[in-house]
Amino acid sequence: MKIVIIGAGPAGVTVAETVRQHDVQAEIVMLSDEPFPPYSPPAMVEYFATGHGTHLWRGTDWPERMGIDYRPGTRATGITPDEHLVQLDQGAALAYDRLVLATGGRLYAPVEGSDKPGIYNFKSLSAANELLGLVQAGQAKTALIVGAGFIGVEIGLLLADLGVKVTQLVRSRVMRSMLDPETSQLVLEMIRERGIKVQGNDDADAVAFVGDQRAEAVEMRSGVRLGADLLVAATGLRPNIEFLAGSGIQMQWGIRVNDRMQTNYDDVYAAGDVAETYDRLTGERYVHAIFPNAVDQGRIVAYNLLGRDARYEGADNMNSLKHLGLPVMAVGHMRGEELRLRHNGTLRKIYVEDGHIAGFRLTGDIRSAGIYRSLMNRGEDISAYKHTLLEPGFGMGYVENLASSPTLTA
Ligand SMILES: Cc1cc2nc3c(=O)[nH]c(=O)nc-3n(C[C@H](O)[C@H](O)[C@H](O)COP(=O)(O)OP(=O)(O)OC[C@H]3O[C@@H](n4cnc5c(N)ncnc54)[C@H](O)[C@@H]3O)c2cc1C
Repeated sequence: MKIVIIGAGPAGVTVAETVRQHDVQAEIVMLSDEPFPPYSPPAMVEYFATGHGTHLWRGTDWPERMGIDYRPGTRATGITPDEHLVQLDQGAALAYDRLVLATGGRLYAPVEGSDKPGIYNFKSLSAANELLGLVQAGQAKTALIVGAGFIGVEIGLLLADLGVKVTQLVRSRVMRSMLDPETSQLVLEMIRERGIKVQGNDDADAVAFVGDQRAEAVEMRSGVRLGADLLVAATGLRPNIEFLAGSGIQMQWGIRVNDRMQTNYDDVYAAGDVAETYDRLTGERYVHAIFPNAVDQGRIVAYNLLGRDARYEGADNMNSLKHLGLPVMAVGHMRGEELRLRHNGTLRKIYVEDGHIAGFRLTGDIRSAGIYRSLMNRGEDISAYKHTLLEPGFGMGYVENLASSPTLTA
């Protein structure tokens, strides 16, 4: 069987590795439009901050070790599922028996002109090299970041640490979709302490990137124009699906898949940031672009390619900030009753709905996160002991004995 995987991020790599573990014969071809061996995007911040890191996380000899026909610098420009063909930028078409779409996504901002040249990105190593290359060459001293989602915040912190004067536009609040207002405010204060100028409310209402040949400034609704050496669009993520236009693959925001990660064509699968799946708890359809989801989805694709009937249980909704100085973790949803503990510079919140953990937000002290997540995903009824949940060290040592613990028999 010949499997073609488009994209060499965590999703594509997981598909290839899992198939190879169980099938030494399968012919696996992997395309990447980037010139590098597979890398881990979350490790890029560390790499650019310190010069060393683990971003080439599988090693440069990974394709050889795995027996994979790896084709870096090869872009898929289209697919024709009825003919089982992938069109390549180099002209020739590539035949497949099974196809995996794992092309990830890129940062963007829903602002006019956001596809203009001169707007930088940090979603891929190629994009990050371009952005950081200018900083390292001393050609970029100022940056304007439109948006403050979790990647936008990480980029701002990295650039500030490298000596760039950063302005971040935060129209509503930092990491709005993931953080409650109080945690968001705490993160905002820490960003400011790190030397980032935060511009908010009406002063952050960007309507257009302006400039003739390339973007040179951002225009606000008020008419004010702000320029910087680096303009970065980072309000959200847009899946890389444009090359599928006209292919017949069903797409909305991302590629639509069923619980076997299959598209509307049985022999075409999708996984990772490009795939529109559903939330594990709410069933809501969306693209939740995080590493663990890409890996889980990649495994499901692989098992189905291997002939098993593997079903995806749904995406986790979580994010964490690692370079703020304080760990910040956001998992699940902010619904129901809010349990809160603020203590010695830490802030911990758990959301309880109908006796179940709906989500939690931890700042400064992320202990017990694994236990909360497990209780949440298993749908445990925590009503009897909910007031002990925020106790320091909750679950450590006695979670195995929840039923017999005297603190839990309210
Ligand atoms: C700075 C940063 C920090 C992050 N931090 C975290 C974190 O802390 N925790 C976490 O869980 N997640 C984090 N993420 C998100 C995580 O990296 C992504 O969810 C994950 O990489 C998605 O994997 P993927 O394989 O779906 O896509 P990607 O990693 O985006 O890989 C897709 C690959 O496909 C290639 N490609 C695209 N189009 C084509 C084409 N037409 N032909 C050939 N190749 C193509 C792309 O160039 C890319 O190499 C972070 C991301 C970034 C950028």
